[in-house]
Amino acid sequence: MYDVIVVGARCAGAPAAMLLARAGYDVLLLEKARFPRDIMSSHYIHQPGIALLDRWGLLNRLRATDAPPIDRVVYHVGDDIKLEGCSLPVDGHSSAYAPRRFVLDPILVEGAVAAGVELREGCQVTDLLFEDDRVVGVRFRTSNGGESVERARLVVGADGMRSSVARLVNAKVLVEDAPRTCTYYSYWDGLDAGFELYDKPSRWVGVIPTNGGRTLVMAYFPQSEFDAVRRAAAPAFHQNVRTTAPELYERMSEAEQAERLYGTGEQLNFLRQASGRGWALVGDAAHHKDSIAARGIMDAFIQAHLLTDRIGEDLHDESRLNKALRRYARDLDKRFMDFYQSTLSVADLRVPESKLRMFRAISGDQELVDRYFATLSGAIDVKDFYNAQLLAKLE
Ligand SMILES: Cc1cc2nc3c(=O)[nH]c(=O)nc-3n(C[C@H](O)[C@H](O)[C@H](O)COP(=O)(O)OP(=O)(O)OC[C@H]3O[C@@H](n4cnc5c(N)ncnc54)[C@H](O)[C@@H]3O)c2cc1C
Repeated sequence: MYDVIVVGARCAGAPAAMLLARAGYDVLLLEKARFPRDIMSSHYIHQPGIALLDRWGLLNRLRATDAPPIDRVVYHVGDDIKLEGCSLPVDGHSSAYAPRRFVLDPILVEGAVAAGVELREGCQVTDLLFEDDRVVGVRFRTSNGGESVERARLVVGADGMRSSVARLVNAKVLVEDAPRTCTYYSYWDGLDAGFELYDKPSRWVGVIPTNGGRTLVMAYFPQSEFDAVRRAAAPAFHQNVRTTAPELYERMSEAEQAERLYGTGEQLNFLRQASGRGWALVGDAAHHKDSIAARGIMDAFIQAHLLTDRIGEDLHDESRLNKALRRYARDLDKRFMDFYQSTLSVADLRVPESKLRMFRAISGDQELVDRYFATLSGAIDVKDFYNAQLLAKLE
């Protein structure tokens, strides 16, 4: 009998398992994949996520890789607006990082194992054990093809957007919106580029330096174009970058594409009920949104932290645990609803006139530009961004 079984060992599951083990609990972490293994995702981590990695003692491991610190954003909107700056720091961290997932995820898993978590890779959870409507354990396929069960006071589903745990507990979908975008990306060697964003009607391009001297170039299209785009992904990708960011496209012609094109139209937007009796969800299992805002990794970290914090020392007292889990789910909805809505509005790939007016007003005012980037990173709230100084400019 474990205190906690965590299903899924990436950005949400590995930190949740690590923090629960550090809180003194006996934790089993089950993962169907074997690490290191890549996953469909770009990998920009905003400053609040970096601050959490530091707090957990894992940032030095990340810095020891060759992922470059990113402390400057260049954001082009249409043909005439260019904002350059950096998010305000969070706990002294002004740099973001974008480590490849086959670099980041093993660091997180090693952090969990060092905290005393028992990790079993190659184990796929196929069912949950229930007693009186309460989840009390899991059934899973083992790495040698057999079947096994383990019991725990709490089962945490950190098993991604298509979470089996969410399906098996019948977690309600609380909020759901139609997919807005689809995206394709690849990596270039020898591309002279920093962190760059290009925003034009129905198009968006992101450029992110990462490990191995490689640079990710990512193109977004409206979801309505997905069928056409996927039939001819490479020409569509090139056409998007050429028209959205012509000067970047010229630089790309001097560089070499180093990997195949990756892409997805599964940009689901939802919030699920995040806890019940004997179970909780973290990361994409609880809350998924369009990848355009690059917030999923950081939000998974925040949720892992929130869950552990809410449980505190209450795991062994059933009524206190139930209360803690309800509080976790409530706090998660409150905390992520605004970001969810603002992500949807970016994913509409249409900058409203009021926002264009705001961009023109802050352009050239470094303090306001940095504060705007701080709203994207989550370092400050949007309502705090619209301060007296900005409102005066907008009059
Ligand atoms: C195209 C794209 C670009 C993105 N770019 C960014 C970005 O730049 N920055 C950012 O912050 N976020 C980005 N995201 C989002 C980010 O990838 C996710 O939010 C993040 O991976 C969520 O982590 P997770 O641990 O919740 O889920 P996942 O990373 O999906 O991990 C779930 C794990 O659970 C395991 N699992 C699943 N089912 C079972 C089972 N039954 N038994 C055992 N194990 C199981 C899986 O093998 C997997 O390892 C992007 C996403 C996409 C699709």
